[in-house]
Amino acid sequence: MEPSAANDETHEIVIAGGGLCGLATALALHRKGLKSLVLERADSLRVEGGGLCILPNGWRALDQLGVSHHLRNLGFQLDKGWDLGLDKGTQQAMPAFGKGEARCLKRSDLITTIAEALPVGTLRFGCQIVSVQTDPLTKFPRIQLSNGKYIGTKILIGCEGSRSIVADSIGLKPPSSFGLGAIRGLTIYPHGHSASHELVRMTKGKTVVGRIPVNDKLIFWFVVFPAPIQPDVKFPREPELIWQKAVEKTKDFPAEVQEMMERCAVELLTFTHLRYRAPWEILLGKFHKGTITVAGDAMHVMGPFLAQGGSAGIEDAVVLGRSLAKIKDDLSKSEKYEEVASKVGEAFDEYVKERRMRVAGLSTQTYLIGVSWEERSPLVKLGAMIARAVLFSNRGAHINYDCGRL
Ligand SMILES: Cc1cc2nc3c(=O)[nH]c(=O)nc-3n(C[C@H](O)[C@H](O)[C@H](O)COP(=O)(O)OP(=O)(O)OC[C@H]3O[C@@H](n4cnc5c(N)ncnc54)[C@H](O)[C@@H]3O)c2cc1C
Repeated sequence: MEPSAANDETHEIVIAGGGLCGLATALALHRKGLKSLVLERADSLRVEGGGLCILPNGWRALDQLGVSHHLRNLGFQLDKGWDLGLDKGTQQAMPAFGKGEARCLKRSDLITTIAEALPVGTLRFGCQIVSVQTDPLTKFPRIQLSNGKYIGTKILIGCEGSRSIVADSIGLKPPSSFGLGAIRGLTIYPHGHSASHELVRMTKGKTVVGRIPVNDKLIFWFVVFPAPIQPDVKFPREPELIWQKAVEKTKDFPAEVQEMMERCAVELLTFTHLRYRAPWEILLGKFHKGTITVAGDAMHVMGPFLAQGGSAGIEDAVVLGRSLAKIKDDLSKSEKYEEVASKVGEAFDEYVKERRMRVAGLSTQTYLIGVSWEERSPLVKLGAMIARAVLFSNRGAHINYDCGRL
């Protein structure tokens, strides 16, 4: 692409955000012979969030990216998942576990493995995008960085997570909040832990604790609790204060949970408000405009209750890579906005069509679970439970999805 007088540099494809989805998208494009540039605001790979559970649909997508072989050795197979109600002494098997490959990975292992498979120069750190504009000369998108530089691109893919500037630029609304917060952490047991190869989710009062072993010496855990977003009250971000909160929230949980909190790696703790793009916005939303689209949490952030947000982002990457590969030659041949936009529009139509119903299903199911976890009236909670029972009678069906060949 010819550099525009107003831009400091120009590229064929720019990916905003070098998190899981941005890196997976760059890798999918690379595997199909398409070069991209990933702009990440952090100064190094952002591996916040401890761990990530990958279920069969996620492994199928990772197979297509060609990185699953290495990753399989980094987390052991989880045989089962259990929901334990500590107040009433209930125990229920999770339908998505025990029916195929399920492993928990350290987020740093997953992100680093994908990043290392990218050609040198694909990922650029310290690049905070502050706005997305239209180049007055070429009509292609141009990105403004916080250092004042402008980068022009034929195609822009927004993968900067739930608060995406690219999503704003194509008219998507900011996501909503569940009124819940999550602390995530890792606990290392140098001499091994005694937890079985199972995901265990325990509920006591309004607090939910998840415990997921990664390997014999490492456990990923999360604590979810009511935490509405209030403009005048900020949740502490300092690891030590997050840790105190985690300890406080789990003080009535079994001794092994308290021990897990006591021994955790405090410096790795993170807190997140749980956000979602509403199912009706997924069904009706316009996910591309001109030569710009979105993927991952920027498109469909959802509650983590099915452990699917990350895998859905990897599926997006595979489908997007496949769709854009079909117009690879057109992309390099033309410099005219109208010609490129028409071809890219076709590829994006295909991508969005393929992804919309898939993520609408995940988003609806997680929305209904979120409503039943939130502080809502018993009637609303009952309605959400009934809707979930009717719409998702086969509760583990979402793991059977196959995003197809790259
Ligand atoms: C408690 C919890 C547990 C979860 N558990 C699971 C699980 O077990 N399995 C699963 O599959 N998913 C899980 N998820 C969901 C998963 O974490 C997300 O869906 C996934 O991380 C989204 O990836 P992403 O790349 O789209 O966004 P992100 O991971 O948010 O990455 C966005 C990237 O963009 C960068 N960025 C942001 N703004 C800018 C900007 N202006 N300029 C440049 N760069 C920018 C950020 O620094 C970041 O690196 C969980 C989520 C939560 C909250």
